[in-house]
Amino acid sequence: MSLLGWRQWAVDRAGLLRPAWTPWSPYPPELLLWRPDGLTRAHCLRGPHDRPPGEHDRPPGARDETGSGGIPEAECGCGLYAWRDPAELAAAPHPRWTSLPIVVGVVRLGGRVIVGERGYRAELGYPVAVLDSAGVVATTYQLARYREWRALVSEWHPGTSSEAA
Ligand SMILES: [Zn+2]
Repeated sequence: MSLLGWRQWAVDRAGLLRPAWTPWSPYPPELLLWRPDGLTRAHCLRGPHDRPPGEHDRPPGARDETGSGGIPEAECGCGLYAWRDPAELAAAPHPRWTSLPIVVGVVRLGGRVIVGERGYRAELGYPVAVLDSAGVVATTYQLARYREWRALVSEWHPGTSSEAA
C-alpha cells in the first residue's frame, strides 16, 4: 500500500466519503462507501466480466493470489479511481450531479492496480489526507486534514510546490 493517488469525493450527510462521479443512491448504502474503519474494496457494478459465472466473485482462499476476484479488470471500468498527480486533480472538472460537498485529497492504493497514463484504478484504497476547509468530513476517518491546497500538496507531493518562491 505505498502508491498514492489524488481524487475527489462527495461527502454525504453523515460526513462519509462517497464517489464523486458515480451516483451511489441506486446501490446498497455500503457498496460505494469509502470506509472510515479500514480498507475500501472496489466493486464492479457491471461484472461479472467476460469470465465463467462465479469466477468474478471468487471466494477467499481461491486460486487468485491477489484475492481481487479480477477487480479492477482492464477491459471494464471498475476499480477505485485516482489521478497520479495533484495537477491532474486540480485541472479536473467539478462534479455537477450532486449538491453535496465535494472534497479532494490523497488516497493510498493497493491490491491489484491498473496504471493508466494519468491515473490509477485500484482494488483497495485508504484515504490518507483531505482538503477540508469547511470541516465536513466525519471525524471517524483517520486522515490528515488541511485547510489549504498548497499545504496538502507540499506535504503529499513534495517537489512540485513552489516552496522556494
Ligand atoms: Zn468490472
